[in-house]
Amino acid sequence: MIRDSYWLDMDYTPAEVLVGDLDVDIVICGGGVTGMTGALFLAEGGARVVVLERREVASGASGRNGGFMLAGTHEYYVEAVEELTEIYGTDGRRLAREAWQVALENHALMTGTMKKYDIQCDYYSHGSYIVAMKKPDPGSHPEPMSLITESYHLMQEDGFDVELIDEQTLQDLKRSPMVSGAIWNKFDGELHPVKYVRGMAAAAKHLGAQIFENTPIIEIKRDQKDLVVHTPNGRIRTANVLLGMNAYTPQLDESFEERIIPHRGQVFTTEPASERLFNGVFYANDGWEFWRQLHDGPGDGGRLLFGGGRNHHVKAEQGYHFLRRNKKVIKTYRGYKERPTRAVQRSNDIAFNRTFPHLADLKRSHRWGGVMGFSYDSSPFVGETETPGVFLIAGFTGRGNAYATIAARMLSDKLLGRPSDIEDRFEMVRTVFDPTRGRDGVENRRR
Ligand SMILES: Cc1cc2nc3c(=O)[nH]c(=O)nc-3n(C[C@H](O)[C@H](O)[C@H](O)COP(=O)(O)OP(=O)(O)OC[C@H]3O[C@@H](n4cnc5c(N)ncnc54)[C@H](O)[C@@H]3O)c2cc1C
Repeated sequence: MIRDSYWLDMDYTPAEVLVGDLDVDIVICGGGVTGMTGALFLAEGGARVVVLERREVASGASGRNGGFMLAGTHEYYVEAVEELTEIYGTDGRRLAREAWQVALENHALMTGTMKKYDIQCDYYSHGSYIVAMKKPDPGSHPEPMSLITESYHLMQEDGFDVELIDEQTLQDLKRSPMVSGAIWNKFDGELHPVKYVRGMAAAAKHLGAQIFENTPIIEIKRDQKDLVVHTPNGRIRTANVLLGMNAYTPQLDESFEERIIPHRGQVFTTEPASERLFNGVFYANDGWEFWRQLHDGPGDGGRLLFGGGRNHHVKAEQGYHFLRRNKKVIKTYRGYKERPTRAVQRSNDIAFNRTFPHLADLKRSHRWGGVMGFSYDSSPFVGETETPGVFLIAGFTGRGNAYATIAARMLSDKLLGRPSDIEDRFEMVRTVFDPTRGRDGVENRRR
């Protein structure tokens, strides 16, 4: 059993380390899905762009996720409407609808990118099942089926092509005795996240982007009208910086602590099952549990990927912790460690065995963790920060595959001086995505 991401378990030769000084148009901090999409779009537009990644491309959350391409924010649709109404006023329904529409455009941009650059990343489009479980866990919502039904009706009214699936149909299709129904979002999909991100890195390089790995950014300073990005063995002078570090942004600049909260997620994969058990991706108990079957054989079969379990260990898995050491208060966050923990993995095993009792004997092949960046209102931060020239894309709240691509499209258009219609068409993007909002911002808007 390997204690690291299944997706990263492949041969890989990293790019060179930055040594020396450079002068470019844009520096991208972080080589995940955000950074590499930004690099690709900017290189397409002819910008001189450099990506700095402190480890290897896709070694953060982008190489550790489930590979789900789900539309919308992480809540049920009805909950998203309620939350956005509470925070932003009467327009909550419209904002929720737009959150799903923006994510659908993101999905189309991703598949367009795969096609354009021939990125082979095991993409499938069998949809997603937002599942209600029979016995919700203590930490989950007490009435998941009613939330599913309400969400279904709202989504239908708002023009989304969804189906309500009852217990019998879902059990026949999905082979779990634990489900009581689901919404089937036909438009959702799945992919191999590392093949996708590294495919974009290769395409961006081909177009002239420079990528340096094992090159951490130490600090970003202003020198007259330029920004200077410092690394251990080199410096880059640039007009603009794009922060694509998601959960790790506060490690570089503490002022983001109020906005971006680290949450660790944990997953395991099994050895491949020899038959196809189901297609599509499954999201249960308000997203606290999720699973899919990969397409990695033998025959039509593949591994099961199962994740979640955080709801039983909330304190250990999210936020910052304050410790006293030698009379000093030290802020730490154990969850920045990607190592899987015994406690959460055990919760996942229990949930898996309960969901698929007939598959409990399948051996686990890989167990891993990854760190996500959450925002207070589940929406990402996209735009220029309080520091002129420094742009931020972060705070996906577990949905980077839903928003990173469209966010990178918007910002790269802005940086290239091109008109972009995304902001014109979606109020959500103009108002909610504001990168300067934080806990205070949200609370201010509530009043
Ligand atoms: C277990 C798990 C399951 C998930 N499942 C899904 C899913 O199915 N669907 C979905 O949409 N989302 C999912 N997510 C969330 C998704 O993975 C993230 O939203 C997304 O990958 C964020 O991408 P990113 O490029 O912004 O950040 P990251 O992928 O985290 O990339 C940030 C990069 O910045 C680098 N970095 C940090 N500090 C520095 C520095 N000082 N200098 C240089 N580089 C630095 C890091 O090494 C890292 O590579 C999941 C996450 C986890 C952990």
